[in-house]
Amino acid sequence: MSARARQKLRESREEEAYILRKRLIAIYDQMLAEGRFELSRDLDFQVVTKEIDGKKTRVAKLKGNKILVSVNGSTLPTSALKYIIAHEIAHKFTKKHSDRFWRVIENLYPSYKRGQALLNERYSPSSGLDSDQRKQMMQ
Ligand SMILES: [Zn+2]
Repeated sequence: MSARARQKLRESREEEAYILRKRLIAIYDQMLAEGRFELSRDLDFQVVTKEIDGKKTRVAKLKGNKILVSVNGSTLPTSALKYIIAHEIAHKFTKKHSDRFWRVIENLYPSYKRGQALLNERYSPSSGLDSDQRKQMMQ
């Protein structure tokens, strides 16, 4: 790939990242407006163009008050992004995927199973993922 082509690719990834962050913020604002849960107004989003934790399969991660989301998530439908947000917020309360964890998600996003199914169906960075890689999509 030429330097010029690489530069173009980098610019389009940055553009995608910018648009995805705007979408995430809009979805989160909507969740705040629904007022189902005590959500933090300090929460921020960062869309990353590099791998998260060195894993190409990872789509998101909670880091302090910030949710990191891979730019590969930019093709996901709103319900899948909403599920990602709810999932990462639930990790503010508990690290493990315990019963309590899933109750928090349900509280934030009652029909989360739809978003979860769409995420599993549609998220595919470059090549497809096998079932072990699917398990690593989110911590
Ligand atoms: Zn998790």
